Amino acid sequence: METRFELSAVRIPSSARPITFDASRCVGCNRCMNICQVDIFIPNPEKGKPPIVLYPGECYYCGSCVMVCPKPGAIHLDHPLMNQAKFVPVKRPESDETCGDMVSGVPASD
Ligand code: SF4
Ligand code: SF4
Repeated sequence: METRFELSAVRIPSSARPITFDASRCVGCNRCMNICQVDIFIPNPEKGKPPIVLYPGECYYCGSCVMVCPKPGAIHLDHPLMNQAKFVPVKRPESDETCGDMVSGVPASD
């Protein structure tokens, strides 16, 4: 006798929102889902639509999902603020020369 199981998945609440999709560019190939090492996505039941981000808090921002996507702009990775610090050279007031010290959290001029 064949036993059938019904599986269900529940989205886990998280303040992090690392991944967003542009549904007009995504073709639903699920490459991003397949490459994710921590399985934050599940396939969309609607064919051709972006995967569903089920466990956003598990993302460790490796960027693989964005790199593997064949459709530019279809998937976007938002790094948390603490990862967005830019490192700029410190200028000593007594000289125009820059030194090896670096400071973080200062917005770069470009
Ligand atoms: S950035 Fe890495 S960990 Fe986060 S969803 Fe993409 S592949 Fe998964
Ligand atoms: S890899 Fe790109 S096109 Fe394919 S499902 Fe993911 S976001 Fe959509």
